[in-house]
Amino acid sequence: MKVVIVGGGIAGVSTAAALRAGGFDGDLTLVDAGEFPYDRPPLSKEYLAGSKDSKQIALQPPHWYDEQRVRLLSRTKVTALRTRDGGVELADGTLVPADRVVLATGGGAARPPIPGAGSDRVHVLRTVRDADRLRAALTPGARVLVVGAGLIGAEVASTCVDFGCEVVLVDPAATPLTAALGAELAAWVHALHDARGVTVKRTGVAAFADAPRGIKATFLTSLEPQEFDLAVLGVGMLPSTSLAATAGLEVDRGIVVDAHQVTSNPAVLAVGDPARMRRKGLLLPRAEHWEAAQHDGARAAATILGIRPPAPTAPWFWTDRHGCHIEAVGHMEAAEQIVVRGSFDHPAFSVFGLRDGWVVAAAAVDDSIAVRAARRMIDRRIPADPDRLSDPSVNLRTLLRA
Ligand SMILES: Cc1cc2nc3c(=O)[nH]c(=O)nc-3n(C[C@H](O)[C@H](O)[C@H](O)COP(=O)(O)OP(=O)(O)OC[C@H]3O[C@@H](n4cnc5c(N)ncnc54)[C@H](O)[C@@H]3O)c2cc1C
Repeated sequence: MKVVIVGGGIAGVSTAAALRAGGFDGDLTLVDAGEFPYDRPPLSKEYLAGSKDSKQIALQPPHWYDEQRVRLLSRTKVTALRTRDGGVELADGTLVPADRVVLATGGGAARPPIPGAGSDRVHVLRTVRDADRLRAALTPGARVLVVGAGLIGAEVASTCVDFGCEVVLVDPAATPLTAALGAELAAWVHALHDARGVTVKRTGVAAFADAPRGIKATFLTSLEPQEFDLAVLGVGMLPSTSLAATAGLEVDRGIVVDAHQVTSNPAVLAVGDPARMRRKGLLLPRAEHWEAAQHDGARAAATILGIRPPAPTAPWFWTDRHGCHIEAVGHMEAAEQIVVRGSFDHPAFSVFGLRDGWVVAAAAVDDSIAVRAARRMIDRRIPADPDRLSDPSVNLRTLLRA
């Protein structure tokens, strides 16, 4: 059997790794439009800060592809799915034959239709090139406008502060990440910006215009227009669905897949950021997190191998900002009761979301152990005692045996 994976991000590379680990012995080709298969989370953290270089963000060392018999075609774009001809078409017209195609095409940074947002001074952050260009502009004293206080915007704001930049962070939401972290922790996390010298304003940008300093932003509220050296948009991503759409696959703000990552064409699977799962007739939101992309890859490989997929786990993500490591697992929006373990005044601490006596979510600052324990409680349906959960002197391991 011949498998072609389109896209060399974490989803595509995980699919290849899981196929070989599962005993796949056929032809395996990984086509990636980027320079080399690399990891994206460091782009707003260590890579942007300069503490990791491009080698250190490679998803696999160069020799891995030969060892695993993965034919890697970097800097190569797939321009069409030719499912009737049994393959994919590359930009130079070559047809690469495939019995199964896995779309792992990720997405691009969103650029909302704000007038003037096409300026060179307005950055986005999705690729190594974006990160290189942004880092070159981050000189001490530079005035930086960060638009969007979600994961990427907040991390960029934090890294800019470390460069000695003067940072203004705008977001129309009062407290970003409330759904994922719960109101209290989200407010604590958002307040870190102010504590570290970032000016936080609750607004959006109405327009950008060239200005003597670089770029002038006018805002959607009465906030006075201001000049900046540069602006960074951290306002989400757009899934790359065009290959799927042109090939007539079902696309609905994402490439629609079933619980096995299979699209509306049984020969084509989709994984990672662009995949949108339909479960029990309902279209779920796209995950857009690193671990979810990795799990998609493992599930797609199991589908191709015809073996049982790994058991699903509660969704998890992390973010790092202003020296704090934050993790969240599960569905905090489903919680009816919040239990705090430790004190918000002294990280590390964690919050657990409970419903009907079960842990449904947890989020923590500098406390990965708590989140790992919560994940076990969620995945294994271990009942929780709120009093013991909130008592930092109780070892969480003892609660896992309950
Ligand atoms: C700056 C940044 C920071 C992040 N930080 C975190 C974090 O802290 N925690 C977290 O959980 N998640 C984080 N994420 C999200 C996480 O990185 C993504 O969910 C993950 O990278 C998705 O992986 P993917 O493989 O689906 O897509 P991608 O990583 O986007 O990879 C897709 C690949 O497909 C290639 N491609 C697309 N179309 C074609 C084509 N036609 N032909 C060939 N190749 C093609 C692209 O060039 C790209 O290399 C971050 C994302 C970014 C951008």
